Amino acid sequence: MKLAQYDITHPQTARVVQTFRITPESSPVEVRHITLQVPDGSLSYVEGQSIGVLIRGKHEFGNPYHLRLYSIASAREGENGVGSDISICVRRCSYIDEVNGEEYPGVASNYLCDRKVGDEITLTGPYGSHFTMPPMRETNLLMVGVGTGIAPFRAFAKRIFHEKGYWKGKVLLFYGANHGLELLYMNDMVNDFQLYYDEETFQAFEAISPRPHLDAPVTWEAHMNDHGEDVWDLVQEPNTYVYVAGLESALESFNKTMIRVADSEAAWNDVQETLKQNGRWAELIY
Ligand SMILES: Cc1cc2nc3c(=O)[nH]c(=O)nc-3n(C[C@H](O)[C@H](O)[C@H](O)COP(=O)(O)OP(=O)(O)OC[C@H]3O[C@@H](n4cnc5c(N)ncnc54)[C@H](O)[C@@H]3O)c2cc1C
Repeated sequence: MKLAQYDITHPQTARVVQTFRITPESSPVEVRHITLQVPDGSLSYVEGQSIGVLIRGKHEFGNPYHLRLYSIASAREGENGVGSDISICVRRCSYIDEVNGEEYPGVASNYLCDRKVGDEITLTGPYGSHFTMPPMRETNLLMVGVGTGIAPFRAFAKRIFHEKGYWKGKVLLFYGANHGLELLYMNDMVNDFQLYYDEETFQAFEAISPRPHLDAPVTWEAHMNDHGEDVWDLVQEPNTYVYVAGLESALESFNKTMIRVADSEAAWNDVQETLKQNGRWAELIY
């Protein structure tokens, strides 16, 4: 769906209650964990949905507002169980103008990363109902994310292991970043996922780009030597749901890994097609 098609007729004001960097200062990539407070009961959402951030003013091509979406990184009970608080994780972006080759800061991400505690932000949404968790605890979840694609999975994991208490199916997380410092919510500064490593059903596979400076895609190959067969069996089980989130490269890297695991592109395509046809495949690619 195009951004212009999103319903922005019910905006609401949120206040920044917390903002901090979750990539170390030594990393060239700035990603911030930002917690926003909305009036109690005014935002009802489930894990996997996104919110819109609306920045008013004259923007490119005379647009009266700039809208961008951000995955909600909190479970439905709110950040730390506080119903009025939700968190997002935002990467400060810039882009290169194709015509003059100059670098410009992205409007929404820079606006959000520059906000201070107490500042007000206009939100819309929530949006997206295709990327939500199955309600049954017996299902297997395979979550694949690169970069800020981790945000919805932070919400999934919170829902599964905190609010629900346990999950009977297997929960596998494939997570990748260009550099070890950019493993969000899994680095020395903030490591939310370490809470789940003791959970019997949870397993995480991390991947770092072999050539970060050349933007080479991440690869989960190293783990697949030991776990490839298990993963291949898992994706063929009739109660497995697969979720892929983040930039397009997340999907490309995962497909490459699965083709290796399946030993052939055709075999992986068949399994992927079955998952899609049965509504057990969901993508949130931006
Ligand atoms: C459903 C959905 C969920 C999203 N969730 C998140 C999220 O949780 N966190 C987040 O930071 N962004 C997320 N995004 C991307 C976000 O909406 C914006 O596109 C991004 O912040 C850039 O907006 P901007 O206005 O700053 O810059 P723009 O002028 O729109 O673009 C800046 C440039 O940065 C690139 N870019 C955009 N997002 C990223 C990224 N995350 N990492 C690396 N490069 C990027 C774009 O391709 C573009 O070249 C999501 C997008 C969608 C559609």
